Amino acid sequence: MDKETIEQMKQKNFEVKKQILEKIKSYDKLIIGRHFRPDGDAVGSTNGLAQILKLSFPEKDIHVVNEDYSDYLAFLDDDKSVFPDEYYADALFIAVDTGTVERLSNKKYCLAKEIVKIDHHVDDKPYGDIFWVEDWRSSACEMIFDFYETFKDELKIDAYAAKCLYAGINTDTGRFRFSSVNGDTLRAAAGLLDIGVDLEYIQACLDLQDYDYYKFEARVLTDMKITENGVAYIIVTREMQKEYGLTNEQASNSVSYMGSIKGCIAWIAFIENPFNDEIRVRLRSRFMPIIGIASQFRGGGHDNAAGATVYNHDEINDLLAKADEAVKTFKAENNDWM
Ligand code: AMP
Repeated sequence: MDKETIEQMKQKNFEVKKQILEKIKSYDKLIIGRHFRPDGDAVGSTNGLAQILKLSFPEKDIHVVNEDYSDYLAFLDDDKSVFPDEYYADALFIAVDTGTVERLSNKKYCLAKEIVKIDHHVDDKPYGDIFWVEDWRSSACEMIFDFYETFKDELKIDAYAAKCLYAGINTDTGRFRFSSVNGDTLRAAAGLLDIGVDLEYIQACLDLQDYDYYKFEARVLTDMKITENGVAYIIVTREMQKEYGLTNEQASNSVSYMGSIKGCIAWIAFIENPFNDEIRVRLRSRFMPIIGIASQFRGGGHDNAAGATVYNHDEINDLLAKADEAVKTFKAENNDWM
């Protein structure tokens, strides 16, 4: 999206942000939720928003409530509260970083009195009583920081919230490398550093792995294949997950190991579910969008980072053939790719 359109959209969305702040003020109880299988942006944006609202409105009852958690992101101190159905009746549910209701981790969202959606995914299936969606944004964390900055006369922030938001921006941009990064992203990161983020500690939490885990990374690089036109892919089988003692989160990370191969402008990991016939698909690309392939296989997300689900190896082959064809067409019609 060009700069001028982004500025127009941002101005238009000011009113929506104001409505969200007013809605937040009008409730005593706020429940914040995110997508299942949470990543850094999901954990960072929900915890960061909760902290900003707790500091700004100490009299309110505010919780981040979800049904699954990330071991990798445990350093962001998730709230693991569980509440009975009745608790939701007079609450405002704020869904962050979640494109569709089906992807919400907390299935009780529908019991809340009203729903606000704050998100940066492509908005195929809108939901919520108020929704603020900016799909050009690098991350939901960037949006939460923008929300804070817009109303900073009324809102408060601290180093914990800054840590959460910085971690989310950092991870969702692949360490500030993806094409979704723009001046707003770097200004947000700078603002968060000014508030007080311990960069060395955060990078250590995000980047360090046990040595044993690198053996799995080596296996991925050995077993991965490349299609005729340059789609790198790996199938992380149930057996492989057992052999290396991988959590679902660790097995899913395999997609990131294939991202720096010259000529492979799309790369895909298929992760078999150890308990059923579901196969999670994680699709990544540079220069060309990959979301169109994901949306043909029960998925969605962003142009260059999307997810999908398939159920057997025929579907894997079908998806790979479509991705390979898309890469072939893109390479034939464009020059500036590598
Ligand atoms: P993943 O590879 O699962 O991290 O997904 C990449 C991005 O696409 C993330 O922002 C996800 O939230 C989003 N995503 C993954 N799967 C889906 C789906 N089935 N529908 C919509 N968005 C998705």
